[in-house]
Amino acid sequence: MHHSSTDESRVRIERDTELILGVDIGGTKVAAGLVDGQGVIREQSRTPMVSAGDPAEGLSSVSAAIDALFSHSGESPEFGAIGICAPGPLNPLTGVIINPPNLPIWQNYPLADELRKLYKVNVRIDNDANAAALAEAKWGAGRGYRNIFYATIGTGVGTGILFDGKIYHGRTGAAGEGGHIGVDIHGPICNCGKRGCIETMAAGPAIARRARQKISAFPRSLLKEMSGGDPQTVTSRRSTWGRTHDFHGTRRRAKNALCHASKEKPPNGAVAM
Ligand SMILES: [Zn+2]
Repeated sequence: MHHSSTDESRVRIERDTELILGVDIGGTKVAAGLVDGQGVIREQSRTPMVSAGDPAEGLSSVSAAIDALFSHSGESPEFGAIGICAPGPLNPLTGVIINPPNLPIWQNYPLADELRKLYKVNVRIDNDANAAALAEAKWGAGRGYRNIFYATIGTGVGTGILFDGKIYHGRTGAAGEGGHIGVDIHGPICNCGKRGCIETMAAGPAIARRARQKISAFPRSLLKEMSGGDPQTVTSRRSTWGRTHDFHGTRRRAKNALCHASKEKPPNGAVAM
């Protein structure tokens, strides 16, 4: 089949300007966005997610977020496809949500099929870390690279792997679930049932929990001082605050402490840390 160059450029422009609908489903909220071929969000919405009850109510929450994108325009929803990121475990190959601990409303729920019936477009689902890895590859830090490892640290630890520009799902669809790699056989029990997953040691809440334990073990610490003496006020956010906003104070105290330990007068210059 022959394509003239004019045809090819016309096809490319049509594809670039086609709007895709992206939906981020969390345990308590649904965020939806209408995104163009350059990754620019044209419209966005945020609505509550119901996390328990009839599975169809979960679907209604998702369609409410989608419909909210078009509520003020008065136009009928037009987009080429829907991409969903949802809490795992899920099967990106079949579009089925399996049994997410953070979203118990859906057990073996065929979310992609249900949305396809509603909106008559192609629907793909994946977990948030894989979706974020793909976004970084297309428009962010991974731009121009074919093979990418992506990691995100928040409430959990998520990872995604791209081989040759495509998300690597593996045989079961769960490849790249790096947050559940075991790093300490004596560590805490994870949501997934295993012990000592990296997520139980290094995710935001885990960092804060370990900091609180350290405060109890080392009562004469800067962290204890900054917490006003109450270890329960230390959260992972607070720890970050301490490092960024009181960085000079931290360095000064550390310098003094180092010099005190070596019985020297503190110099005026900085100490390499
Ligand atoms: Zn785990």
